[in-house]
Amino acid sequence: MRENDLNPDNDHLTQEDKAFENALRPLRFQDFTGQDKVVENLKIFVEAAKMRNEPLDHVLLHGPPGLGKTTLSYIIANELESNIKVSSGPVLDKPSELAGLLTNLEPHDVLFIDEIHRLNSVVEEYLYSAMEDYKIDIMLDSGPNARTVQIGLNPFTLIGATTRSGLLTSPLRSRFGITSRLQYYDAKILTSIVKRSAAILNTPIEEDASHEIARRSRGTPRIANNLLRRTRDFAQIKGDGIATKAIAEMALKALEVDENGLDEMDNRILTTIIKKFKGGPVGLGTIATACGEEAETIEEVYEPFLILEGYIKRTSRGREATELAYKHLNVPPPGQTPSLFN
Ligand code: ADP
Repeated sequence: MRENDLNPDNDHLTQEDKAFENALRPLRFQDFTGQDKVVENLKIFVEAAKMRNEPLDHVLLHGPPGLGKTTLSYIIANELESNIKVSSGPVLDKPSELAGLLTNLEPHDVLFIDEIHRLNSVVEEYLYSAMEDYKIDIMLDSGPNARTVQIGLNPFTLIGATTRSGLLTSPLRSRFGITSRLQYYDAKILTSIVKRSAAILNTPIEEDASHEIARRSRGTPRIANNLLRRTRDFAQIKGDGIATKAIAEMALKALEVDENGLDEMDNRILTTIIKKFKGGPVGLGTIATACGEEAETIEEVYEPFLILEGYIKRTSRGREATELAYKHLNVPPPGQTPSLFN
């Protein structure tokens, strides 16, 4: 198993992972399950823009990785009957690259920029006039002959996706007319996503197996689909091709996903806080070094779920393990003798 097999972060996806994801991506609002409020609103905004024959307002989608930001962007473009051009903050590092993308957009096209919080400030400033007036200034020549010319763009929609909306500058944030936050999914919705994916993959799956995978997917469709993919492998090699609960449990065990759906890194983080730092409070940087993971990844990928589920708390002095975390690791909380615990 690759170390980051279950990491929901886009950065770690291989070509094969991407092909797998694309095959499972819903293409229309009606196939996108969950996030009801967000989808309801987007449907109305898309419909209204189409009726007025105007481009859709710029959209900012934020939330943890793997919850459907990219998927929704493709769906919006499909529903608008427009083309979509895709890029990302770290890749778009020169204004000329942005200009190249923008000048090739047809009216009402969608430009999707993933990880938009990672755009550098020069490129970001170019985006301001593009978003506001559909114009960009391009610098011609350099030195004494340098001059700028203004180029008009076709009206377009920018969709920005970010895991860290707090890192967006306010001028950029204020240029998005629509902002939607995606939430972790509950097990019921994830169960239906797993069933849909299994049907696309032609993998027969039993009801309790879909539920087990859903329940242990950290509320994230990308993880649910990855767990399904591995369950399918186990079903093929260790079973008769049918994904049963026992087979799903085998796959979950092999991937070190525990009873509560926490993976190896989640558990490493909790163990570090409790065993090395007496339960905290301890700073994020220190946890990251002790766990051998980047602070940013811990903050974006692991921590939100651990906080949501009540395993850790964020305080002004750092991260603290909660009683639930002690219980999960079967360690008595400080001040409690082992006999009183349990
Ligand atoms: P993000 O851009 O937020 O990191 P993606 O849109 O790439 O996440 O989604 C990751 C995977 O999960 C994709 O394969 C996608 O098909 C699937 N997925 C995400 N949200 C849903 C959903 N609501 N219904 C069905 N599949 C989903």
